[in-house]
Amino acid sequence: MEKYQVLLYYHFVPIDDHELFAEEHLQFCNDLGLKGRILVSHNGINGTVSGTVEQTNAYMEMMHNDSRFHDMVFKIDEHDGHTFKKMHVRPREELVTLRLENPVDPNKLTGEYLKPNEFYEAMQDENTVILDTRNDYEYDVGHFRGAIRPDIHSFRELPQWVQENREKLDGKRILTYCTGGIRCEKFTGFLINEGFDDVAQLEGGIVTYGKDPEVQGKLWDGLCYVFDNRLTVPINNTEHVIVGKDHFDGTPCERYVNCADPVCNKQILCSEENEHKYMRGCTDACRRSPNNLYLKEHELTEEEVAERLEAIEKTNKQNV
Ligand SMILES: [Zn+2]
Repeated sequence: MEKYQVLLYYHFVPIDDHELFAEEHLQFCNDLGLKGRILVSHNGINGTVSGTVEQTNAYMEMMHNDSRFHDMVFKIDEHDGHTFKKMHVRPREELVTLRLENPVDPNKLTGEYLKPNEFYEAMQDENTVILDTRNDYEYDVGHFRGAIRPDIHSFRELPQWVQENREKLDGKRILTYCTGGIRCEKFTGFLINEGFDDVAQLEGGIVTYGKDPEVQGKLWDGLCYVFDNRLTVPINNTEHVIVGKDHFDGTPCERYVNCADPVCNKQILCSEENEHKYMRGCTDACRRSPNNLYLKEHELTEEEVAERLEAIEKTNKQNV
């Protein structure tokens, strides 16, 4: 079988006419045969792409030949196929959206960078707090042991969360981390502007931490959520603690499905058994939706649907 690679990368560098750049870059990626999602703004690039080893190596080489990206770091995962269906390159105002009143330029202001082994040591220090800068659904399937889970659905909500939860961070050394590092680049600058003076970030993010031969992902529990069709990747090579919980019964679970109501389409963790029991609907309304894909896939009759809904009601009553 042909070997594939997944590349995760970002770089903050001025890009003149980023809209034109995006157009040309899409053509360039399509010509190479890559698939993935790339964002381009006037101050940088952020992407994940998949392709054969040959295609992805050609991409890295050509990017490194461009003086703007000559030192761009690529995180490389092996895989057995593409991890995206299509290739998108989208122009954006901001690479990662924080919408701050005082925008932060990571090239000018950002937290101290910690290598995986330094981060591992720092996490175990008493005077530190570990702050996950990702979204709630990312945290829920895996995170560093003891990390704070901000209750946010999107990154742009994080500044407000900080302003409302200062007491959790005051007087401590703050360690931040995210998937590949880009969110922390911006967010730690914001923290410094907010008056926190001891702020450090995991260089290269969780995925780099998992590949580090020394720490081997230690103190990571669960899996790492990724924004492509792999959904999660393993990080800790020394032990596997499951922290994900089944949407329906709260039992340990790391299996993602999308809610069968296409309008909802919410990603939930759920066992195979519960997928059938709940007809893959995350709520009662989703289960009863006339568009529920599960009902179509399994050609359930009205009677069978009614039976299952009744069984769910029974369970709910038992649990009250
Ligand atoms: Zn739903």
